[in-house]
Amino acid sequence: TVGMVSLDQTGSMSVGTSTSGLFMKKAGRTGDSALVGDGFYVDSDIGGAAATGLGEDIMKGCLCYEIVRLMGTGLSPQEACDKALYPFLRKLKKRFGKIGEFSLVALNKDGQWGVSTNVEFTFAMGTEKEAPAVYIAYPD
Ligand code: ASP
Repeated sequence: TVGMVSLDQTGSMSVGTSTSGLFMKKAGRTGDSALVGDGFYVDSDIGGAAATGLGEDIMKGCLCYEIVRLMGTGLSPQEACDKALYPFLRKLKKRFGKIGEFSLVALNKDGQWGVSTNVEFTFAMGTEKEAPAVYIAYPD
């Protein structure tokens, strides 16, 4: 999945995802990337988030809605990504024994951003003044 969260000069935010889904997926499968709140969510008064990874697990946590909800309580995008992801991973592991790969990106209305992942994850961040730079995130 390619996910993007953006903030324009008027303060309006948007989020988008594009995916091929999972390799060898069953016909008719709908992954998280197409579902509001699971693979993406945005509220211009707060911020937005996008996810990539095993959709079946991402959907169990409505992770992008959860990140935006947490940012709405005053957490930074990084704090919200960490708080949405890591306890959820522990819960999944305890309940199901194994977990898929997850990566989450978030941006708030002030232009602060955050990333959480349980794999090595490459992402880019740019502003109107700076061309996008590529970063690599690692699990906490
Ligand atoms: N999240 C996508 C899905 O489960 C897969 C991916 O991110 O590569 O359909």
